[in-house]
Amino acid sequence: MTDFTMTTDKDGVATIVWDTVGKSMNVMNQQGFTDLDALIDQALADEAVKGVIITSGKDGSFAGGMDLNIIAKMKDSAGDDPARGLFEGVMAMHGVLRKIERAGMDPKTNKGGKPIAAALPGTALGIGLEIPLACHRIFAADNPKAKIGLPEIMVGIFPGAGGTTRLVRKLGAMAASPLLLEGKLNDPQAAKRAGVIDEVVADPVAAAKDWILSNPAIVKPWDEKGYKMPGGAPYHPAGFMTFVGASAMVNGKTMGVYPAAKALLSAVYEGALVPFDTALKIEARWFTNVLMNPSSSAMIRSLFINKEALEKGANRPDAPDQKVKQVGVIGAGMMGAGIALVSALAGIKVVLIDAKQEAADKGKSYTADYMDKGIARKKATEDEKTAVLGLINATTDYAALKDCDLIVEAVFEDVGVKAEVTKKVQAVTGPDCIFATNTSTLPITELAKASNDPAKFIGIHFFSPVDKMMLVEIIKGEKTGDVAVAKALDFVRQIRKTPIVVNDARFFYANRCIIPYINEGIRMVKEGVEPALIENAAKLVGMPLGPLQLVDETSIDLGVKIAKATRAAMGEAYPDGAVDEVLFWMADQNRLGRKSNSGFYAYDDKGKRLGLWDGLAAQYPAANEQPDLVTVQHRLLFAQVLEAVRALEDGVLTDIREGDVGAILGWGFAPWSGGPFSWLDIIGAPYAAERCDQLTAQFGDRFKTPDLLRDMADKGQEFYKRFGTGAKAA
Ligand code: NAD
Repeated sequence: MTDFTMTTDKDGVATIVWDTVGKSMNVMNQQGFTDLDALIDQALADEAVKGVIITSGKDGSFAGGMDLNIIAKMKDSAGDDPARGLFEGVMAMHGVLRKIERAGMDPKTNKGGKPIAAALPGTALGIGLEIPLACHRIFAADNPKAKIGLPEIMVGIFPGAGGTTRLVRKLGAMAASPLLLEGKLNDPQAAKRAGVIDEVVADPVAAAKDWILSNPAIVKPWDEKGYKMPGGAPYHPAGFMTFVGASAMVNGKTMGVYPAAKALLSAVYEGALVPFDTALKIEARWFTNVLMNPSSSAMIRSLFINKEALEKGANRPDAPDQKVKQVGVIGAGMMGAGIALVSALAGIKVVLIDAKQEAADKGKSYTADYMDKGIARKKATEDEKTAVLGLINATTDYAALKDCDLIVEAVFEDVGVKAEVTKKVQAVTGPDCIFATNTSTLPITELAKASNDPAKFIGIHFFSPVDKMMLVEIIKGEKTGDVAVAKALDFVRQIRKTPIVVNDARFFYANRCIIPYINEGIRMVKEGVEPALIENAAKLVGMPLGPLQLVDETSIDLGVKIAKATRAAMGEAYPDGAVDEVLFWMADQNRLGRKSNSGFYAYDDKGKRLGLWDGLAAQYPAANEQPDLVTVQHRLLFAQVLEAVRALEDGVLTDIREGDVGAILGWGFAPWSGGPFSWLDIIGAPYAAERCDQLTAQFGDRFKTPDLLRDMADKGQEFYKRFGTGAKAA
């Protein structure tokens, strides 16, 4: 079976249909390229063929892109000299697309050649747009659900099959930049307005055929003499401004840690200075450079392959379908309101309960506001708003929970209140109903004691704001059964978020790792490290927020509350006295973070963050000698990753894929690294252990090398090799 087939009609128009065997959307692999190449050769050689249409056999889509599983492994399978192997492989791909573009024309006179059109029934992404860009005209169906674009940058690569070079030459660097640098996707009408495709029609195959038979001109502008790049090449005054601006923007956004963004910009700049075929070679070199960088394969592995595996239920126990029909959300505060919203958006009926009707209604109004914003941005309609609101029953009456098959409790963080609510709920719900708590700090096993059936009790921990945060942490108590886990996973799948499943322990997984990050930042303030150095070091290593900004966002009084509870639980062994001194002092100054418009940062009346608060420097003056950047970065990164390793050692994490995906989606752990375990694999266990020894000697036992890491260092192992590519921890 082959993914590409060709037929020629009586008018001499050949149609190549792409139909990847066994997939609902086309994806490209090496064999696909070979087959396409052979068909193009055949069509160009056949005198009876006047022109070619390349289209898809799938309803509503052309192609989803390159098979990323293959890209992730390309380096390993590229032979003894992987850079050369990769470069040659990429150039072979360019060869096929350039053959389509030149279509048999005479290289000198541009005479001859056959028109080749792309006919897109819908979505065309990545290589699925790079092939059409090599064709002479692109027709797309008027399908508003279709997405057209080059999203490669989102997974740590860039369009490397000529898409970068062709789009820049077609649109100019300025117009191409949101499509290339941000991976912006458009529907067909918007793609036409942006100049990416040529025509939006009812029947793209018929329109392509008419066009071919009209004997059209097919030479690409960049193959004509005197071609000038729209908006100007780099040495043109306008082009100069574009490139200076783009360079600043990319570095401002990425802090220089994403190799793909830099490489893309270099490919565009250097390619703009030379003829087209040389530009393709330059693009191939930079693409090879990115593929050789361990960051790109780590990002693809975590952000695409493993994320998708977890979403599809990689760790789901064997249990019948547990799709949720009606969910009861108890507590209509910040979290409950968000959980009700995402459930109703997924079409699930919701009973939203609070102690007072007013509070329940306020929780429901969160969904109304959300839909109103969607209507204002033309993303939703009044009818959709009515339908979504119609799914939410806001009430104080527990009896309304009778038919719910899942409860998510999000009342105050208090064992007594939660126990009382559990009992009240279970007095009305049926024996099969699963009870989940959204607690962020209380042990699930402890809370399950209030339940009449601890096997049906589980933690489903959302992150705030619920509608934006993609991770959901599912926590198993000691007695939680398989059906409860399956229920939680099926629910998370319904609301289209990404789950990780962890075992019960203080702060579960995400908060367990993020608290030491915040603490390390605050500890450095106490030591006299410049706060600006701390914050910038974090951002320059790819953290979305510095630790001081993060604690401002989550609130300083919450930090105080957690510190007091942890100290009470740990007693003498509590290690964070120095951190508390700063934190408690801030709380005493009534600087509670963003919510009080004052924290480690200063804010204006409207809540706009201004800069680091100067009162901090007065209380904790900067030391005369400041640490170097890398030391600060290593303190901040190791504080997190060592906790992740300990979570694996303790059996809280049972799958390193969840550790990596959860870290990126849950708290934004340096996405360029692929997550904590991927980062340790990139730097290597021997170096990581050596660095921990140094940090321990200098800063204390919290950096002590965990036994697992020491063992791996001794054996020269990597996490993804030791625990298998997609496998569970031993
Ligand atoms: P919140 O104070 O905004 O909301 C709690 C709601 O529960 C209030 O509306 C309150 O009226 C209601 N409530 C209290 N007792 C009740 C009862 N007996 N019956 C019915 N309703 C009752 O709190 P929140 O921030 O939404 O947090 C709720 C839960 O989610 C907590 O367990 C918290 O630890 C957890 N959580 C919070 C966050 C966060 O970032 N805020 C993140 C993850 C988890």
